[in-house]
Amino acid sequence: MSKLIVSVSGVRGIIGDSLTPEVAFHFGAAFGSLNKGGKIVLGRDSRVSGPMLSSAVVAGLVSTGCKVVDIGITSTPTVQIMTKELNADGGIEITASHNPVMWNGLKFMSADGLFVSERTAEKIKQAALNKEYSFMSWDKLGSISRDSSAVKTHIQKVLSLPYLDVDAVRKRRFKVVVDTVNGAGGGIIPELLKRLGCEVTVLNEEMNGHFAHEPEPLPKNLKQLSDEIVKRGVDIGFAVDPDVDRCAIVDEKGTPIGEEYTLVIAAKLVLSKKKGKVTVNVSTSMAIDDVAREYGCPVERTRVGEINVALKMKDNKSVVGGEGNGGVMIPDIHIGRDAPVACALALQYLLESGKTLSEIKETLPKYVIFKGKVDLEDKEPKLILEGLKKLMAKEKVDETDGLKIIRDKSWVHIRGSNTEPIVRIYAEAENLKKAKRLHDEFREKVLRVTR
Ligand code: MG
Repeated sequence: MSKLIVSVSGVRGIIGDSLTPEVAFHFGAAFGSLNKGGKIVLGRDSRVSGPMLSSAVVAGLVSTGCKVVDIGITSTPTVQIMTKELNADGGIEITASHNPVMWNGLKFMSADGLFVSERTAEKIKQAALNKEYSFMSWDKLGSISRDSSAVKTHIQKVLSLPYLDVDAVRKRRFKVVVDTVNGAGGGIIPELLKRLGCEVTVLNEEMNGHFAHEPEPLPKNLKQLSDEIVKRGVDIGFAVDPDVDRCAIVDEKGTPIGEEYTLVIAAKLVLSKKKGKVTVNVSTSMAIDDVAREYGCPVERTRVGEINVALKMKDNKSVVGGEGNGGVMIPDIHIGRDAPVACALALQYLLESGKTLSEIKETLPKYVIFKGKVDLEDKEPKLILEGLKKLMAKEKVDETDGLKIIRDKSWVHIRGSNTEPIVRIYAEAENLKKAKRLHDEFREKVLRVTR
């Protein structure tokens, strides 16, 4: 049996194995009890297992007195926005984000629309695993209502961003291909792009959860999108993951510019209009430091995980932040990764630059991150990192999250995943060869201490 993964990023498991309706019910009831029968916004991505899990979560919420507002198939950022918009006490998105189709999970939000804190996540976990929740009598049960205005509200908020000149973007009539991988993106991205005056071709639009390819928007999964861009001769391509918090950009030649550059472009646009702090996680590209330096703005780094970045952004009043995996966070709308926001800002940047996307890429700082992983089987990531640290006596080490070894114009970051039983090894350098060499050097070390 696979392991149910419960972390600060929520719950993830394999359907029919570690993630059953029973598990979903326990978490629904735990979250419901914790919110004392308040109002909870519930959304889900398009996964085939979504309706089943949704029923179980709703049962948990209603049985503990919660008033559920079901907003249907919607993105994670849409649930975040609606939780705040509807003055709800919390929100849940049923999704396993970019994980393959056999996975599903739950992401929990608090009343402010941010993900729940690490402490609250731990409370939910304990209450769910120990079945610490209280059922209501028949006259105190919660209720279920539906709200179909969520996508409209989200789009309206994106179009109201202060960094966008909607009329000017509309006039440019960009030609765009977007791949929503049969996830929740089909319900929002094409509509948003049309509202921005784009001529849109949509791939894998149907929100049926039968992902046309591996759903993580990594270059290796974007071949269909690249081919279509070349065939149609368009300005830009976008790919989003099933719960639409990550956005990858492909240039007019069909070449993915790399998911790190989604945030780089968004940050450049925002900082050119409003100076302030930038907050990213420790795994995010050094390109962000270069761009922030260009505008004389400071960068702060946090542990990986959206909530860690979000809390720091709230605290230090950042103007832009996010994660290098294509997650753009703009506090003017909400402090959460939002692919619709990323798409809109990329179009504005493209408009203002007057260049093609491949020309823009040439003007941006050049770094390459090589991403690898080591399967852990049953071993604890903590022990592996402790063993590894002993080998790092002569290195400059940042221990914000796992181990980040910083060298001249390069770094390697080794940490246990929040969502999968693996150790991630990310290495960044000025070119792929150097990044891969750095990755390989440390992969060897990880394997040595894993054995
Ligand atoms: Mg996601």
